[in-house]
Amino acid sequence: MKGRLEIIIGPMYSGKTEELIRRITRRRIAKQSGLVFKPVVDTRDKSFVKSRAGTTIEAIPISKISDIFDFLEDGKNDFIAIDEIQFFDEPIYNILEDILNRGIDVISSGLNLDFKGEPFKSVEDLVIRADDITLLKAVCVVCGKDATRTQRMILKNGEWLPASKRDDVILIDGSIEGVKYEPRCRDCWKILD
Ligand SMILES: [Zn+2]
Repeated sequence: MKGRLEIIIGPMYSGKTEELIRRITRRRIAKQSGLVFKPVVDTRDKSFVKSRAGTTIEAIPISKISDIFDFLEDGKNDFIAIDEIQFFDEPIYNILEDILNRGIDVISSGLNLDFKGEPFKSVEDLVIRADDITLLKAVCVVCGKDATRTQRMILKNGEWLPASKRDDVILIDGSIEGVKYEPRCRDCWKILD
């Protein structure tokens, strides 16, 4: 039997990692064996996936999706989980399909949209082919409605302003005074030209 592809998406602060950890925990209670991976670019916690609520689970940092094959053991893995998949900027479905064809379930989580409201290619690639999609919402910091967007704010001359369409998706440290992200609904989400 082939594996299932589950994907958890949403804006920042929507609890994606918390939901990923919950699913991994349930499977382990059910005596399933699985490996957890995270992109090496996420340097916050080196060998752990950590939710904002504080729950943690051990994870293997990898620089590209195909590195997963180095860790798989024939017939021993029921599932794999991957956090922050938006950081893998490569067409990852083809690689994951190879894993699914071995009968291994794949659970993944990541941001669907960048701060400009544009899809992350790797996430988009999975969403359209997934067997199960969960869209989580955060709470809009401005009005309190469901938030589906991630607002980037930039500190300029002591004032926080919405980011511009022309800004890079991945920021280089030190290029600006300050940056922060907020969950916002479609009405309160703003981007400057
Ligand atoms: Zn709002």
